[in-house]
Amino acid sequence: MQPISRREGDTLWLPALATAHSHAFQRGLRGKAQRKGNPRENFWTWRGAMFDLAHSLTPETIDALSRQAFRELRIAGVRTVGEFHYVHHQPGGQAYDDRTLLADIVIRAALDEGLRITLLRTAYNRGGFEREIEPAQLRFSDTCVDDVLRDTETLLHRYASEPRVRIGLAPHSVRAVPPEWLAPLGQFAEQHNLPLHMHVSEQVREVDECLAETGKRPLEFIADTGLLSARFCAVHATQLSHEEVQMLGRAGAFACLCPTTERDLGDGIANISALRNAGVKLCNGIDSHIVTDPIEELRALETHERLRTCTRVTFSNSGLDPAESLWLEGSFNGAAACGFADVGGEIAINTAHESLRFVEEAQLLDAIVFSGGANTLVRNNA
Ligand SMILES: [Zn+2]
Repeated sequence: MQPISRREGDTLWLPALATAHSHAFQRGLRGKAQRKGNPRENFWTWRGAMFDLAHSLTPETIDALSRQAFRELRIAGVRTVGEFHYVHHQPGGQAYDDRTLLADIVIRAALDEGLRITLLRTAYNRGGFEREIEPAQLRFSDTCVDDVLRDTETLLHRYASEPRVRIGLAPHSVRAVPPEWLAPLGQFAEQHNLPLHMHVSEQVREVDECLAETGKRPLEFIADTGLLSARFCAVHATQLSHEEVQMLGRAGAFACLCPTTERDLGDGIANISALRNAGVKLCNGIDSHIVTDPIEELRALETHERLRTCTRVTFSNSGLDPAESLWLEGSFNGAAACGFADVGGEIAINTAHESLRFVEEAQLLDAIVFSGGANTLVRNNA
């Protein structure tokens, strides 16, 4: 096995990192929703704060927040972002004259800040099964699936000659997309060979409501509609059953885990060993930008599993140390989930940094992955 790193003086070169799941505008929530406003705070009360922010956004503030979020990712060693973009329309739901105005702003921000971007055009339509749509959700929603596909076509055409931009499709979730939309979205993605991302089983309530509506659990239902493939990426995958994990593995699909967001939102911890054993390709997402540290994200793919199972060093892959495997998941798998065949270059780690003193040469990557921080270790003059 080729080493994944390259030493040059006091620099260690490593494959650039990717974050396959981001909502850049949520950078505007930093510091918010961290105090008790309800007797029982949870994902759904946090979502209220996020809806308030989404409702207040203008093209100018989306631009400013996206640039800030992407700048921080670049500084932290990320070169590829999968932007799960769902704020499409004006407050109230009316489309902008240029329907893809906000998507274009987000793409421009990523390119200007030195990132490659996969704009995952999100499909959204409803508040949930037997649930009224909330006013803030009107900005996310389209009235018919053809509008989603038309916008995706516009974006595909507009960025066809820009190698740093990919376009993908993202049915938001089984909550927000009616069952009959899934098949046409899947067919379009297959026809154009697009990454297809979807929030899957982040919360127990989502599973319960999907069972009530369809008689199936979310991933079972998604599989039935023909969406699963090696281009499919299940975001979160927190509450999957054993059989759902096997379905994901058989499809050769990705699971994008977002540990710093999932812990902030109280989502729970995915069964990472089961996903690994089933052959699911793991990758990471910075998601809500609660913490911008991609090394912390990839380390949590192992350390959260230690917490969940009360064991240590929960996996080993043939010929690779856990730190190497994690780094490849955070770089190659993340870029691949976004539809890029390569990682987009190398990043330079400062091995002379205080936090790496007294570390043995042979254990340098272990120390970077399990003890390092991207914001202190990644050199930005490289
Ligand atoms: Zn998300």
